Amino acid sequence: MKFSVLFSLVLVWACQGDSGQGWESAASVPIPVTQQDWAIAIHGGAGYMNPDNMSDERIASYEAALQKTLDLGIELLERGTDAVEVVQSVIMLMEDDSLFNAGKGAVLTAKGEAELDASIMRGQDLNCGAVTGIKNIRNPITAARLVMDSSKHVFLSGEGATSYALEHGLVWVENDYFITKARKESYLRLLEERNKLKEEELPTKKGTVGCVVLDRQGHLAAGTSTGGMMMKEHGRIGDSPIIGAGTYADDATCAVSCTGHGEFFIRKAVAYDISARMKYQDTPLHEACEELILGELKDMGGDGGLISLDHFGNISMVFNTTGMFRASADASGTRFVGIFK
Ligand code: ASP
Repeated sequence: MKFSVLFSLVLVWACQGDSGQGWESAASVPIPVTQQDWAIAIHGGAGYMNPDNMSDERIASYEAALQKTLDLGIELLERGTDAVEVVQSVIMLMEDDSLFNAGKGAVLTAKGEAELDASIMRGQDLNCGAVTGIKNIRNPITAARLVMDSSKHVFLSGEGATSYALEHGLVWVENDYFITKARKESYLRLLEERNKLKEEELPTKKGTVGCVVLDRQGHLAAGTSTGGMMMKEHGRIGDSPIIGAGTYADDATCAVSCTGHGEFFIRKAVAYDISARMKYQDTPLHEACEELILGELKDMGGDGGLISLDHFGNISMVFNTTGMFRASADASGTRFVGIFK
């Protein structure tokens, strides 16, 4: 063990008294941190929104939706609810809200259909579940949870995933339930523009939802749910349902949920890479997130962001776009809701 790590561990041990104060190793310089009783962060997607291209009304409706979701998470965590349960409940609420590109309000494939992806991971034992390309299941995150809890697998796709979910009693809806008037209109507009624009000029609507949690028992969990990217090919799989790319949680390091141009997040295995930087290099959470999202990912052309928290309850929300719908809270009373930089 490197001397700096040993030194930091001794400090963690020495400084954790009744005050709950601890120290996190930051390379060779320990940074003081407070051990939070619980903490939560949520996102509703990253993109190029700014106050000039969003009406005040629209900004207010997103802020209200984020606040409502955060309030649910806080209430559950204060009651001592388990991290996985909190992640699932929070994401279900966002899936039911058509403002977000997950569940109802999902973006459409090039064929004009909704194909949904979701994943969930428990930091305590690294158990996880994911589904991709599913239809007719009202809350895709419940299908991911089902795969984690009830199957011997980690990842189910398409028809197989949908029928597994239905066999186990998850709520069925017509696939049109997911398609809102606004999404249909922008799909039709894009369909027309598609013939005039080059592939790279096509606007890509994003807006995945995600949640990361530290619960009162000291466990971490992460989850992500999405309709993917507007005009994606039928069958395309993004980062959101891929454990290690869009979602990751390990009690020993951190919990991460990503949003953005999925192909880049897959190439960089972003969610796992944050955990690996903490585990193998002792990089503090926020530094790891900035290195990746503002540095390496941006340099290769990947736009987006992530929400994350470590086992102390330190929260980091980093994005290289102009905005990310996001909110966070912890047991010390910190509350934050934001959209723009
Ligand atoms: N990451 C998602 C995907 O590529 C999209 C998003 O986050 O907006 O499917």
